[in-house]
Amino acid sequence: MSNNETTKASNFIHQMIEDDLANGVHSKIVTRFPPEPNGYLHIGHAKSICLNFGTAEKFNGVCNLRFDDTNPEKEEQEYVDAIKSDVSWLGFKWDGDIRYTSDYFQQLFDWAVHLIKAGKAYVCDLTPEEAREYRGNFTTPGKDSPYRDRTVEENLELFEKMRAGEFAEGACALRAKIDMQSPSMILRDPMLYRILHKSHHQTGDKWCIYPIYDFAHGQSDAIEGITHSLCTLEFEEHRPLYDWFIENLPVPAQPKQTEFARLNINYTVTSKRKLKQLVDESIVADWNDPRMPTISGLRRRGYTPISIRNFCDSIGVTRSNSTVDMGMLEAAIREDLDKNAPRAMVVTQPLKVTITNYDEGEEEWFELPVHPKDESMGMRKVPFTRNLLVEQEDFAEVPPRKWKRLTQGVAVRLRGSYVITCEEVIKDADGNVVELKCTYDPATKGENPVGYKAKGVIHWVSADNSVPCEVRMYDRLFTEENPDGDKERDFKEFINPESLVTLNDARAEIGMKGTDVESRFQFERTGYFCVDPDTSDDKLVFNRTVGLRDSWAKMQK
Ligand code: ATP
Ligand code: MG
Repeated sequence: MSNNETTKASNFIHQMIEDDLANGVHSKIVTRFPPEPNGYLHIGHAKSICLNFGTAEKFNGVCNLRFDDTNPEKEEQEYVDAIKSDVSWLGFKWDGDIRYTSDYFQQLFDWAVHLIKAGKAYVCDLTPEEAREYRGNFTTPGKDSPYRDRTVEENLELFEKMRAGEFAEGACALRAKIDMQSPSMILRDPMLYRILHKSHHQTGDKWCIYPIYDFAHGQSDAIEGITHSLCTLEFEEHRPLYDWFIENLPVPAQPKQTEFARLNINYTVTSKRKLKQLVDESIVADWNDPRMPTISGLRRRGYTPISIRNFCDSIGVTRSNSTVDMGMLEAAIREDLDKNAPRAMVVTQPLKVTITNYDEGEEEWFELPVHPKDESMGMRKVPFTRNLLVEQEDFAEVPPRKWKRLTQGVAVRLRGSYVITCEEVIKDADGNVVELKCTYDPATKGENPVGYKAKGVIHWVSADNSVPCEVRMYDRLFTEENPDGDKERDFKEFINPESLVTLNDARAEIGMKGTDVESRFQFERTGYFCVDPDTSDDKLVFNRTVGLRDSWAKMQK
C-alpha cells in the first residue's frame, strides 16, 4: 500500500493480529473507524484511520466507518459529510454502507432492558452533583445510591417513562449496578442512559434518551462483528467496563479493545474542541483553513493523501505517548512533491527588469524541463521579452559576501535562458529600488559566457506575458512547540502572526494559466505550492504548502 516500505516503523497491533491469525483466534479481521461527528477530522484521526483501514487492508480484512453519534448536542450532519469525504480522500474504502451507532439505538435499548431484568441496572434519581459525590475517588470508595435497590418492575416502568419523555433532562438516569467500591472507578455503577430532549441528526425526535459512549461502543463493535476495537490510550481505564458489557449481555460477538498512543505534533493542537475554538473565534478562516491540522486543511494546504499515509506509517504505533516533530509531516510532503510535482517559475515579490538591448515587442520561447529528474514529464515553454520580473530578494545594492544573485555590474543567468548584467539601478523618490536596467548576452543561449562568468542562476518571468497571481505564504500556526503546555496562558496567545502573509503582486509563467485547483508545483527556489479554490479567471491563487527546506529545525535547539 505505501510506497516507502523502508521508513515503516514498528506496529505492535500488527504483531498482535499476526499472532491471533496464527493461533486461530480469528480467521478474518474486522476493524472500524468510529469518529464522533462533532468536528472535522485532524491529523491525529489520520493516524487512527491509517491504522484501522491499513490493518484491515494488510490482513485482507475489512474496516467499517461508524459514526459514534450518541451525543446530539454537539453533532451535526455537516461533520458527517466532511468526515466521509476526508476518509475517501485519504484513499480508504469502508466496508458496505456507512454505519451509525444510532442505527443500534433500539438494540441498545433492548439490552438495557435485559440488564434491568437481570438486576444489573437501575434508574437513579441522584442529581449529577450528588452522583459525583457518591462516586468517591481513587482513595475513597463510593457509596451506594439510595435508588440502587429499586425492584426490577419499578426500574422497567421508570426506564419506559424516561423513553416516553415523561421526565425532564437530568431528572434521572439509567445506571449499571456493578460495584460502588470497585478500585476501578469506571465500574462504580456507571451511567448507561441519560435524558436529552434534543433532535438527533439521524433519528430526529424518535429518542429523548441517549446511551453513553461506554454503553454504546463495545456493543456496536459486537453487532458489527469487529474483531479488534482499536482506540487511544485514554480509553484504557474504560476497558473493564467494555468487557463487563460484553460478558453480561447476549451480544453476537466478543470484540477486544486494544489501546494505542495518540498522535501529538508540536507547533499545533490536535483536539477537535480547540480547533473548533479557532474556527468559532475567527482566528482561522474555517475548518479547512490551510493552517489547520485538519485533513481538509492539509488538503487545501497542498498535502497529498499518500504523503499523509506515509507519515502515519513512519511514526509507528506504540503504547507510549510522545510528540512528533512537525518537521516529519513536512518532510513527508516534501518527499512526495520533490519526486512528483512539476517545476515552475513564479516571482512572488516582483522587481522590474528592463533588458535595454532587447527590442520591445520581440519575444522568444525557451524550453525548460517540467522536472529536472524525470524526462517523462516533458518540457514547458517560457517567453523571454524586454520587460521581465525577478524576485526583489534576488537583488542587493550592497551585496553580502558570497552573493550569487543580482547586483550592479554583475552577471547572472536567468534560469533556462540568457545571462544578463545589471547596468543601472533605478530608484523612486524615497530611494526604493524600483527597476534594474540590464543587458543580455545573445551568445549565452545554452552556452557559457565568454570572457566573464555568471555569478549564479535566478528565476524570472516575462512581465509582458505571464499570469497575475496571489501567493499565500503559510507557515506554522503556532510559534511555540507546545502551545497547549502553558498553565497560565491560553493556547491562542501563541498564534504565529506570520502564519499567513499574502503576496498580491506575484506573477507566474504563462503556461500555468488555467491550471486546475489542487494542482501542485515546486516553484523553483521558493518552495512547494498548490492552487487554491479561490482561484478565478483573472487571478491564480496559490498556497505555500511548505518551503524547500525545514527552516524551523535550527530554531528548536
Ligand atoms: P478529539 O480529542 O480531537 O476530540 P476524539 O478522540 O474525541 O478526538 P473521535 O471522533 O472520538 O475524536 O475519534 C475517532 C477515533 O480517532 C477514536 O478512535 C480516537 O481514539 C481516534 N483519535 C482521535 N484523536 C487521535 C489522535 N490524536 N491520535 C490517534 N488517534 C486519535
Ligand atoms: Mg471522542
